Amino acid sequence: MPHSQVLPLHQAPAPSKDRKARIALRSPMELQLHLPSLLAASLELDHILDQYFTYISIDLKPASISVHGQSYHYRQGKESKHQAHYRLKIEDQDLAELQVTRSRPFSEAELSWIEQTLSHLLLPLRHAFAYAQMQDLALHDNLTGVGNRRAFEMQGERLLKSALRHERSCSLLLLDIDHFKRVNDEHGHARGDLVLIETARRLEGQLRGSDLLCRWGGEEFSVMLPETHLPGARIVAERIRHAFAEQAVSGLALSVSIGLVSLCRDETLQALFQRADQALYRAKQTGRNRVCTDSACD
Ligand code: GH3
Ligand code: MG
Ligand code: MG
Repeated sequence: MPHSQVLPLHQAPAPSKDRKARIALRSPMELQLHLPSLLAASLELDHILDQYFTYISIDLKPASISVHGQSYHYRQGKESKHQAHYRLKIEDQDLAELQVTRSRPFSEAELSWIEQTLSHLLLPLRHAFAYAQMQDLALHDNLTGVGNRRAFEMQGERLLKSALRHERSCSLLLLDIDHFKRVNDEHGHARGDLVLIETARRLEGQLRGSDLLCRWGGEEFSVMLPETHLPGARIVAERIRHAFAEQAVSGLALSVSIGLVSLCRDETLQALFQRADQALYRAKQTGRNRVCTDSACD
């Protein structure tokens, strides 16, 4: 059993004779019997915390519970005046901070009961955080940190469906670094990797938060631009092309070629992608360092 800790971050309450609360609380035996199996039934953080909140609510009637992990935030209910606040740790790993609030003060018996319930939450929470991290890794390219092909297929499909449903425009841009093989051949693979990382950062710098950027593979990146018609997307694509042509990447003068298309009515992601790929091919064939598009939907 790993060394786990539930560290109180709140002030201990003044001694009270809250006997009622002590009687109403479920026993450690009952917690041991029911809580672990309830919390072990899922690996999804939200689901586990929903279950936990429901369970403690019966006895405690809290106003809210919130949990803050490194990049995870959960809240149920509306925060109230009195709080029980804990840091949850397993071995040296800080899992999260958890806060329960209520309009009535917590008695000592209640606080100690919350701590017992939390000791059952620690392991399921750790497993769920590890699972969330794994899911996140599976959707990111581990060199550049941007989304990978799988992320693009999943999130791109969602963006495309939403654009078709609401009859909104949506554009797709496929970018390929020109003569990238020479970078590897002349400066080494590690330098090539640096170029890819810097390319991803530069692309992020040119895009909006709602745009979907992914590394499609090798030295090829795809960008989905929701709510963007072809003329608007062309401005973005030209801005990107200039950002590379006019400023060295990792100390090397490089250029990029871009294939750009806009979503047609009833088009699939695969068909849209195919048109972008053909446009990119034309950009390469006609001399590189350019944006090529098609007018399929005009
Ligand atoms: P073009 O202008 O026609 O696109 O030419 P290119 O040299 O960019 O294209 P080509 O497809 O011939 O070469 C792509 C190179 O990208 C070959 C491959 O070794 C390299 N590459 C693919 N993935 C990585 C990577 O993760 N790191 C590095 N350093 N190189 C990679
Ligand atoms: Mg290339
Ligand atoms: Mg390529």
